[in-house]
Amino acid sequence: MADNIKSYCIFNNGRRLFRIIPHAGNIEFDGEECFGYTSFLKCEIHINAAMDDGMYRETLLHEILHVILESCAMHDDEAIPSNLGNEFLTAMVSNNLWLSRCLNRDLFADLFNNNKTNTNE
Ligand SMILES: [Zn+2]
Repeated sequence: MADNIKSYCIFNNGRRLFRIIPHAGNIEFDGEECFGYTSFLKCEIHINAAMDDGMYRETLLHEILHVILESCAMHDDEAIPSNLGNEFLTAMVSNNLWLSRCLNRDLFADLFNNNKTNTNE
C-alpha cells in the first residue's frame, strides 16, 4: 500500500488506464463546481486533492464507480435499460467491482482501510 491515498495516480479498469489527476481545489465541470469528475475521452479522473482523506476516498470511489458503470455499457442515463433486474444489475456491477479490486489491490485496500481517517467515523 502507498503511504497516502492521494499518492495513487492510476486506476486500471482492465481495458484502459485512467490517470488520477489531483487539483488544488474543487473543479468546474459542465458549469458546476464539483469534488471530482471523470473524462472517458482522455481516460482521466480529476479530483480535488485538498479535501481530507475521508472525503477524498469517497470521491475517488464515486469516480471509480463511474468508470465501472461505463465498463458495463452504462455510461449515461439514456444507455441504461429501464427494465434491468436487481440480480442482473448487481451481478454486472459486482463482477466489475471485483475485477477492479483485483487489478488495483493496493488502491482498493487503501480505499477501504478502516484504520485511516474517515469523515464519517
Ligand atoms: Zn458523479
